Amino acid sequence: MNILLLGSGGRESAFAWKISQSPKCEKLFIAPGNAGTGKYGTNCNVKVTDFEGIKQLALTNHIDLVLVGPEEPLVKGIHDFFLADEQIKHIPVIGPQAEGAQLEGSKDFSKQFMERHNIPAAASKTFTKDTLQEGFEYLATIGLPIVLKADGLAAGKGVLICLSVEEAQQELKEMLTEAKFGDASSRVVVEQFLQGIELSVFVMSDGTHYKILPEAKDYKRIGEGDTGLNTGGMGSVSPVPFADAAFMQKVEERVIIPTVNGLKKENIPYNGFIFIGLMNCNGEPWVIEYNCRMGDPETESVMRRIDSDFVDLLSGVAEGNLNEKELVISPKTAATVVMVAGGYPGEYLKDKIITGIENVHESEVFHAGTYLDGEDIKTSGGRVLAVTSLQNDMFTALQQATADAARIYYDAMYFRKDIGFDLL
Ligand code: ATP
Repeated sequence: MNILLLGSGGRESAFAWKISQSPKCEKLFIAPGNAGTGKYGTNCNVKVTDFEGIKQLALTNHIDLVLVGPEEPLVKGIHDFFLADEQIKHIPVIGPQAEGAQLEGSKDFSKQFMERHNIPAAASKTFTKDTLQEGFEYLATIGLPIVLKADGLAAGKGVLICLSVEEAQQELKEMLTEAKFGDASSRVVVEQFLQGIELSVFVMSDGTHYKILPEAKDYKRIGEGDTGLNTGGMGSVSPVPFADAAFMQKVEERVIIPTVNGLKKENIPYNGFIFIGLMNCNGEPWVIEYNCRMGDPETESVMRRIDSDFVDLLSGVAEGNLNEKELVISPKTAATVVMVAGGYPGEYLKDKIITGIENVHESEVFHAGTYLDGEDIKTSGGRVLAVTSLQNDMFTALQQATADAARIYYDAMYFRKDIGFDLL
């Protein structure tokens, strides 16, 4: 079959790498892709939010399946757009329709969903500028620290952890009355702080059946020892040692099954990935958030641990027979080290020539913010490359990915040398 993959990051590079290995994939197109994805298929210069452009690509290239990488087109309704158009409604889209994508697109929606289905999550209430006063009163009752979340998508920046009630009041006021995060903060979820260790659990669902993909831990902060500013993600590791069989059983029973069944009960069709951000609090799982797509840089580690045909699994998601598909997970450890541009996550350098990728033999180098300029590979984004190693044990995987990142060079490049070492 011919597959169209939407996106341009490290996540999409890992998807493209995996899809291109499947004998079921005849031709792979990536829109827009990056300097690395051209190795696995054909890059097409169309943005992920250009729905008309995507339709034309699908028609011209006789696409049989569309896989959506990032959340933005899903929340904006790319799947609904396909279903509403006679010419392309027969093409399955992997990723939920806008209603299901609300699990990520609206924190208030997801909190209410969890409450309706008794899914363990931090206590919370949602406020608007009309209920600011009630919000102030609530802030004084929930204990410190206090978590404030802009309801809508805010590029990973809409969550604030406040250490005092006064700080929380000030922030809540700015979010609601001064549009601190634009429209995204016209509603704000005020939430109790959960103390524990975070991990990401990934589920594929066809709306009825589900498969649990390898779990992963990601590292969000720019600095070693998990310090400094938040980023899109500086690395990931899979499996996660503290997510043992007993813990994962609790996750399945208390979170995954009620989520999949809850969507079905509420008649919300869901063909795609459910990414569950969890806190492990003394061995008990609590949901922090849902995302309606895979994570980045977790996908890079997750794809390397899937030994079965990924396209076959995608077909199962599309056709509603995921239960008949085989998911084989490698017992090995995958570690991903993300290489970023100088200055990131602030204003960062661009257009730097990248050298040394050819010196990496033991890891997979997934491109993210890169482009081709003639013969040169250059940097274009904050997160530039993701270097992923799969090894028999965690120490070797971490060491290999870190050593291989050091074989690559561009001006002012940076990567964390401590990814995963806290887990050893
Ligand atoms: P991203 O897309 O980057 O994952 P987001 O904007 O969707 O972020 P959340 O994942 O809900 O927001 O929160 C961001 C981070 O804030 C979490 O990864 C977690 O570290 C922290 N956090 C969120 N909610 C809580 C909570 N209730 N208790 C403790 N920490 C929390």
